[in-house]
Amino acid sequence: MKVAVVGTGYVGLVTGVVLAQLGNDVVCVDKDAAKVEKLRQGIPPIYEPGIEEMLKRGLEDGFLQISDSVAEATGRSEIVFIAVGTPPGEDGTPDLTAVRAVANEIAPSIKRYTVIVNKSTVPVGTGDMVEEIILSHGIEPHLFDVVSNPEFLREGSAIRDTLEPDRIVIGAKRRDAALRLVELYAALERPMIITDLESAELIKYAGNSFLAMKISFINAISRVAELCGANVQDVAKGIGLDSRIGSQFLSAGLGYGGSCFPKDVQGMIATSQRYGYDFRLLQEVIEINQDQTAHFVRRLETRLGGFEGKRIALMGLAFKPNTDDIRDAKSLEIIHAITSAGGTVCAYDPIAEANVRRIYPDIEYAEGVYEVAQDADALVVVTEWNEFRQLDLARLGACMKQKVMFDGRRLYKREAAERVGFEYSTIGG
Ligand code: NAD
Repeated sequence: MKVAVVGTGYVGLVTGVVLAQLGNDVVCVDKDAAKVEKLRQGIPPIYEPGIEEMLKRGLEDGFLQISDSVAEATGRSEIVFIAVGTPPGEDGTPDLTAVRAVANEIAPSIKRYTVIVNKSTVPVGTGDMVEEIILSHGIEPHLFDVVSNPEFLREGSAIRDTLEPDRIVIGAKRRDAALRLVELYAALERPMIITDLESAELIKYAGNSFLAMKISFINAISRVAELCGANVQDVAKGIGLDSRIGSQFLSAGLGYGGSCFPKDVQGMIATSQRYGYDFRLLQEVIEINQDQTAHFVRRLETRLGGFEGKRIALMGLAFKPNTDDIRDAKSLEIIHAITSAGGTVCAYDPIAEANVRRIYPDIEYAEGVYEVAQDADALVVVTEWNEFRQLDLARLGACMKQKVMFDGRRLYKREAAERVGFEYSTIGG
């Protein structure tokens, strides 16, 4: 099928290369000229395992093209995906400026029947909004349909998630329009849920809110565990093996970050409010999440007798492993807390350093994990990168001024750290 994908970020680019690999004729479009130029050379603007090979293959095989023109891409396509960012606005509600802009750009180029697919995470009612924008350009209603097809990929495993999604959600007013997407995705052989626009839009917010709630729940349990001398990991295992609960998203830590959970929980609350429901449960999810890192930093500050004049090493900056994404990353909060209280930060991340440098150009950055620990008063594990799992902890401690470790991701075993002389603190006992 002839497909256009507008927006080549984590979602749009992965969607584009996967659909090209499935044999569709795909054009990926972005308004960012620098991104377009890089993509044309086969260089992905984001870090995502496997993306570079698939991008290059798509370009070489001719199934994938890169463009800066929404109009041109729309004119040649039967299906046009909108995969632009929907960041939180000042009041927490999603900013739909980019979605509106793309809808306005698509409309004048609709010359034959086109399915416009909203893949961005958006509040209930956005499908109708896109439809109204297209109609306002004088496009006949029979020439298009708007479909909601929310995305569930996770950065770091985005390609696998797109090739093997747990489910594909398709929301549409007309069954025929939904069936176009069923046809597009048929080759994946995955379960599909066909529903109305509102339900599809709500599924995405409800899903992410539920996952965030699970994380805040176990983090609240971690606080109780610290107070009563229990071990949160054992508690998580004990409840997670109950198949009604499930073990995923029950790792106590610094809390959730990234570009999705914080904004989608806010989006769910705002959507509920708009329809007259006060979703207090989710308000608490946010508060627990915010306090989780703050509590950890307070414990570190107390242990060090204040941050003034102290050198703190941060292991990991990305909001989670296998991505360079630092949107709403816990590292940013920790850097701010330490530096604003007079401490010095030295940080290491295998991939995300360049992105943090743009925000914090003046902290120190190390080339590797043993270098970051050099002369540190404390070491803080912020992101659970795989390469941190097999470290020589004795060598790590030997570089430090004081062998103080604050493990924000429960990456190491207490016994292993203490055996080589670390004073080990973590979350949840
Ligand atoms: P992103 O910020 O990485 O990428 C968005 C891209 O859209 C950018 O390259 C930007 O230049 C481009 N863009 C913006 N306006 C444009 C326009 N008018 N014309 C052409 N291009 C334009 O965003 P993302 O992380 O890929 O997220 C996209 C959407 O998918 C969001 O709604 C997000 O919530 C949702 N989502 C993200 C993830 C994730 O893990 N990142 C997962 C599921 C859903």
